[in-house]
Amino acid sequence: MAGLLEGHIAAVTGGGSGIGQGICQAYAREGAQVIVFDNNPAGADETVGLIVAAGGRASAVTLDVTDRQACRNAAEEIAKTGNISILVNNAGINRRNPITGDPAAVAKDWDDILSINLDGMFNVTHAFLEQLRATKGRVVNIGSIQSFVHVSWPNSAAYTTSKHGVLGFTRALAAELGKDGVRVNAIGPGLIETRINAEARARNPDMVANVMRHTPLNRPGKPEDIAGPALFLASDMSAYVTGCIIMADGGFRTI
Ligand code: NAP
Repeated sequence: MAGLLEGHIAAVTGGGSGIGQGICQAYAREGAQVIVFDNNPAGADETVGLIVAAGGRASAVTLDVTDRQACRNAAEEIAKTGNISILVNNAGINRRNPITGDPAAVAKDWDDILSINLDGMFNVTHAFLEQLRATKGRVVNIGSIQSFVHVSWPNSAAYTTSKHGVLGFTRALAAELGKDGVRVNAIGPGLIETRINAEARARNPDMVANVMRHTPLNRPGKPEDIAGPALFLASDMSAYVTGCIIMADGGFRTI
C-alpha cells in the first residue's frame, strides 16, 4: 500500500531534535522525501541517518531560520530539483526568566525567542511561498498550549507571545492562501519530553507535577505523540481542514 505522503517533498525546520525529528521520521515512513533543516548540523545528520537506516529518503541542510537570506538561498537551491509541498515550521527555543529580572537579559530573551519562533517561521514560509502555491502545499506550524494560556508556565512572556503569534500567523495565512489551495494549520503540543525542557524538568519537578494535574491523560508526551497529528495535517486525510490548531496536549485545555 502506498504511504500517505508518497510523491511529497517535506521540509521540517528544527528537524534535528525532539518533535521535529519525530515528524521527519513519520513523514519518511509514509513515503515523503524529507529535507531536514536545522542550525545544528550534527542533529540534522542524526535524523537523516535514522531515516536512511529505516529505508527512507532524507537530506540534511544546515539552516538558521533567523537568517532571511539563507532561507531564500535554501529555497532557490531546493527548487532546482523539485518544489516542496509540505513545510513544518518547528524550530523553536524557550527560556523561562521573569520579566522583572535583569533588563539586559530580559531584552535578550525577548529578541532571541521572537526572532527564532516568530520571525523564523515567517522567513522560511515566505522563502517557500511560491513552491507551496505551485504544489497546493500544506504548512504545519508548531504552536503550544501557550498559544492560549501560560498559567502553568510563569516567567515566559516572550515564549507565550511568540506562540500566540504562531496561531495568528496560521489563521491569517490560511485565510489568504486558501484560494491557492494551500492549507495552513498548527499543532499545540502539551508538555513533550525533549531537550527544550530537559533542564526545566530536572530543576523544577513542581512545574511538571503542576502540568500533570492539568493533564487528564496523566503523562508527559513524546515526539511520536505530535508526529500523528503532523501526518494528518500534511496528508490528504485533512483535505478540508485549514486555519485550525490541533491540541496534542493530553487534554490540558479541558480542565
Ligand atoms: P528541541 O528538541 O530543542 O528541538 C528544537 C530544534 O530546533 C533543535 O534541533 C534546535 O537546534 C533547532 N533550532 C533552534 N534554533 C534554531 C534556528 N535558529 N534555526 C534552525 N533550527 C533551530 O525542542 P522541541 O521540544 O522538539 O521543540 C520543537 C518545537 O515544539 C518548538 O517550536 C517548541 O517551541 C515546540 N513545543 C515544544 C513543547 C515541548 O514540551 N517540548 C511544547 C510545545 C511546543 P539546537 O541544537 O541548536 O538547539
